[in-house]
Amino acid sequence: MPVFFDTHAHLDYPDYAPDLGEVVARAQAAGITKIISIGTSLESSGRALQLAEKFPNVYAAIGWHPTEAEKAPADLRPALRSLAKHPKVVAIGETGLDYHRLPDGEDAIARYKNRQAEIFQQQLEIAIEFGLNCIIHQRDAFDDTLAQLKSFSGKVRGVFHCFGENAARMKQVLDIGSLVSFTGIVTFKNGQNVRDTVAATPAGQFMLETDCPYLAPVPYRGKRCEPAYVKEISETVAQVRKCSLEELSAATCQTAAEFFPKIK
Ligand SMILES: [Zn+2]
Repeated sequence: MPVFFDTHAHLDYPDYAPDLGEVVARAQAAGITKIISIGTSLESSGRALQLAEKFPNVYAAIGWHPTEAEKAPADLRPALRSLAKHPKVVAIGETGLDYHRLPDGEDAIARYKNRQAEIFQQQLEIAIEFGLNCIIHQRDAFDDTLAQLKSFSGKVRGVFHCFGENAARMKQVLDIGSLVSFTGIVTFKNGQNVRDTVAATPAGQFMLETDCPYLAPVPYRGKRCEPAYVKEISETVAQVRKCSLEELSAATCQTAAEFFPKIK
């Protein structure tokens, strides 16, 4: 059976409280052999790490989500430092910029964007300190996110997760040494733009993920998503790229193993 990784899951969310053991077991049975649970705050990062300690095939990314920037401590770095040493912390994030919902008023907007940029910066610094890469979240903020990450290129790489941009923007990401990853959106009826980007992305430059509990692929669309559904995502991606599942498995797993050097 071709194996895949779920490089972006939120297993610490309350959605999984009733049956997390079964969710993880179903992933294993579907050939999804490694799962990275992504932190969105210090609390969430701590929970992701607890899950990584509990389940051998679960790893953690620790970070602070940009939409929660205003709740972040002034300096996030000391707390991240104490977690980042852990052998199962494989990345920093998710971090980045999100301008989708802005506050009212020019000053408030400037303050909000500034705060997001500050905590993004702190997380990039921690990534460099610990030799880790970053999980990048951006929404309606592509140019600013790329520019901020670019100033660190050669020192830290990012994966633009849940990539929904066109092929030209995908190339801009690859040009700074970063990667993209694709979710269940590739299976959506209205996902043709993402399928075009999937087809144009060179092998070795992208990974697969669910972003669960969100974005369940067809035929589960609208339901709670879980890591096992990387199987459906991989089938569509292989079809779009006209390659075998074995080839896709080898390429995406190798990419993830290089990008997350602490994944074993
Ligand atoms: Zn996420």
